[in-house]
Amino acid sequence: EIRKHFPVSRGGLVAPQKGVLKAVDGVSFSIAEGETLGLVGESGCGKSTTSKLILLLEALSDGAISFRGKDVTQFTSEDRRAYRRAVQAVFQDPYSSLSPRMRIGDIVGEPVRVNTRVRGAELKGRVRKVLNDVGLSDPSVSANYPHEFSGGQRQRIAIARALALEPDMIVLDEPVSALDVSIRAQIMNLLKELQQSRGVAYLLIAHDLAVVRHMSNRIGVMYLGKLVEIAESDELSLHPLHPYTQALYSAALPSHPDIPTSEIILTGEVPSPLDPPSGCPFRTRCAHAMPVCAEVPPPLREAASGHCVACHLYASPN
Ligand code: SF4
Ligand code: MG
Repeated sequence: EIRKHFPVSRGGLVAPQKGVLKAVDGVSFSIAEGETLGLVGESGCGKSTTSKLILLLEALSDGAISFRGKDVTQFTSEDRRAYRRAVQAVFQDPYSSLSPRMRIGDIVGEPVRVNTRVRGAELKGRVRKVLNDVGLSDPSVSANYPHEFSGGQRQRIAIARALALEPDMIVLDEPVSALDVSIRAQIMNLLKELQQSRGVAYLLIAHDLAVVRHMSNRIGVMYLGKLVEIAESDELSLHPLHPYTQALYSAALPSHPDIPTSEIILTGEVPSPLDPPSGCPFRTRCAHAMPVCAEVPPPLREAASGHCVACHLYASPN
């Protein structure tokens, strides 16, 4: 089995790395080809920052990203190009993420033009095929402009653009939250189909637990910039350990998986991510907080096989 490994650091940073499992700050997890890792949490939990860091849109101040065994800070320009080819993104808002003055064919073909020598009929053919793969089979699509399409169609175009270079991984940053509820399941199912046929890994970032559960093989829960729990999706549903994860799951309505309508409801103010509480970031909202929670930040530890949690309730036995 070929696995891509995604080391996690203190800040919950995640990055693809081929080859042997490598631990960062003593904790790591991996994503197999064709798997989805979901990251869930309330706004301000650091999900968007994590996505920007992974896409190299924001400089890294803490933690580490490594790719094919090389730390991002050691990247040559060639490494950087390889990384940008291998890691693509689809963002929340399909209205602002597509240049309004470019034709769809040029939008979808742009990453290929920028990163490869493919041109002319071959490029056109590649664009045609990937548009077809996302369900936009009408040949006239390439000549049209973004405003001629609905939100759902624009998100299909953004997905086609992300797929055009045949990346190893796509960061999906709130890919359905700007879409009508009636369209969301279509786009989620399209993403799943594309993953099955292409073996691409997804890092799915979303605030909606129902979306994350529907899409993900494994789920990481973030709170104030920290990864507080990570486990297989089913394991996390059945045995959420962190009090924050337990609150998220109990607040989520048992809705039909195709209709992600549940919302995260928690009591208490979310502290500012710029001025997080000492010790455990969740302690100001936690019903189980103990004196140690104000003193010592709980490290992310394996509580069961493949199931890691950062909470003093689950201290290691020694
Ligand atoms: Fe609650 Fe303490 Fe666990 Fe934090 S470490 S979640 S405050 S019990
Ligand atoms: Mg955010």
